[in-house]
Amino acid sequence: MQMSPVVDQCNLACTYCWREPHMDTLELTDQDPLDLLYESVRAQRRLLSGFGGNPKVPREKWLDAQNPKHVAISLNGEPTLYTRLSEYMDLCHKHGMTTMLVTNGTLPKVIEKLDTLPTQLYVSVDAPNKQVFDEVCRPKYNHGAWEQFEKTIDLLPSLDTRIVCRHTLMKGINMSDEHIAQFAALDNRADPDFIENKGYVFVGHSRENLSMENMPSHDDIMDFSNKIAPLTDRKVLSDSRPSRVALVGRNITPIPIPEPTMFFPEDLGIAPSVKHLPIAS
Ligand code: SF4
Repeated sequence: MQMSPVVDQCNLACTYCWREPHMDTLELTDQDPLDLLYESVRAQRRLLSGFGGNPKVPREKWLDAQNPKHVAISLNGEPTLYTRLSEYMDLCHKHGMTTMLVTNGTLPKVIEKLDTLPTQLYVSVDAPNKQVFDEVCRPKYNHGAWEQFEKTIDLLPSLDTRIVCRHTLMKGINMSDEHIAQFAALDNRADPDFIENKGYVFVGHSRENLSMENMPSHDDIMDFSNKIAPLTDRKVLSDSRPSRVALVGRNITPIPIPEPTMFFPEDLGIAPSVKHLPIAS
């Protein structure tokens, strides 16, 4: 299941983001975490509902998918703006779900204070230095955002969870040999379990800022990965040509699956179809 606790708010305006522009205000959200979890599952069931009538979909798998086992807290907005993120992840774990939290890393105090960490923490490391950060990530409210981001980088080795540094790579913008060396220096400070090198895709609103030429080929991604691996004392573990992505690390370790102590209510139901949602006046 993929969801976002902060649907339309972000403190950055990354050029490569397909979801920008977000709202032009920044507010903390504090929705009840159990309600949020159950609403997310209901909405996921709505998304999958059409597959229930598809003869090509095995019934058992479709039934299994009604109670998701994994949640990606990602999709849109910056999730660390949700004040009850820790409680939310704790409830996911209590329901036997693994959690993957994706953050832009500019709110280190929030990450530092999480009582419950995700089973996997993804930090977007899309700029190798402050100049590229200001040009690519375009902080909207905080001129010290790069310094805050660096605090997150230095916090990561102390966090007891699986950590990924993700580099979204844009040809002609953040892929030079100098950038690779600077990215490697950040990765060495963060000491993540994995470095994910992923090619920018020319979709959504990002097309206003970038061009097709900024999309690296898979060979470009592999070239970047083969150069950064020795600089970080790691190796290329895996890659996917259709997704233009490569994984760099020391070895692939399984993620621990939380033991459930809570269960979705029998009558949890399904979210109403979008066409039946009330329209705000
Ligand atoms: S941090 Fe993520 S959601 Fe925010 S603008 Fe950048 S890519 Fe988009």
